[in-house]
Amino acid sequence: MQKIYIASIFLIGLFLTACQQGDPNTNIDEKEQTTQQEQQADQSVPKKETAKTEEQDNASDGLNENESAKADDSTNEEDKQKEEKEIDKHIAKVEKSTGLHVVDNPESPEVYVNKQRTLPEGYVPPNLVVPDVSHYSSEGSPKRQLQKVAADALEQLFAEADQQGIGLVAVSGYRSYERQKQIYESAVANKGQEHADKFSARPGTSEHQTGLAMDVASATETAATLLEQSFKQTDAGTWLAENAHNFGFIIRYPEGKNEITGYNYEPWHIRYVGKEIATEIYNEDITLEEYFGYDY
Ligand SMILES: [Zn+2]
Repeated sequence: MQKIYIASIFLIGLFLTACQQGDPNTNIDEKEQTTQQEQQADQSVPKKETAKTEEQDNASDGLNENESAKADDSTNEEDKQKEEKEIDKHIAKVEKSTGLHVVDNPESPEVYVNKQRTLPEGYVPPNLVVPDVSHYSSEGSPKRQLQKVAADALEQLFAEADQQGIGLVAVSGYRSYERQKQIYESAVANKGQEHADKFSARPGTSEHQTGLAMDVASATETAATLLEQSFKQTDAGTWLAENAHNFGFIIRYPEGKNEITGYNYEPWHIRYVGKEIATEIYNEDITLEEYFGYDY
């Protein structure tokens, strides 16, 4: 597996929480919105006001002038290598209207989306099920769903936590492309494009659409403390951070990594990637971005 650490860092306008694009009609989402506003006002939260993307050094892409006189075979070889490199990154195409890179493996537990990489338009995971765990959302809510492989792993994780006296509750899992589109377009209509891009994920870029991510909370939490960074200090938050990888989950947006992930610390947002990758990411204390080492 390619292990080149990130060469170019995402410097996004503001680092937002990835879970804040939920249904604004629910208490949780209102809560998230409030948290977001508080974070913006809080000067202690690191932020970059100037959006800037540093271009990666492309010298390795074979554009050395000294080699331009080489035989056609050599050029073709370089083109081929470049093409293979793109395939390795699991990019199907670049969306013209947004500049987003559309991934070609949306169903894989190893799918990787962020503010530069999107799921295909309208993508729906093929095997959504409701894990047999405690849920915060009401019965029948799509938020209860996860892809089967992640749902099975979540059941095991919750069971082990329970064995050790840690009560967890599943707050928000799957979120549809259509729902995210509504939220984003509503934000654009009400607040303008620039504001919308700061505070809402574009449809396709939310990890919740993969059906592989779940926001979790301590079973003893009230709505007032739900999905707060203080979750880290709770027994449940501590246990989750130390044990999630054993069940194939990572803390997707770790503390102090917001310049890499594009999102503020979210101790509650776990993402299924499989035990092997999760364990490596845990042991090396890195992000999914650093694990893959792509420049987008
Ligand atoms: Zn989340």
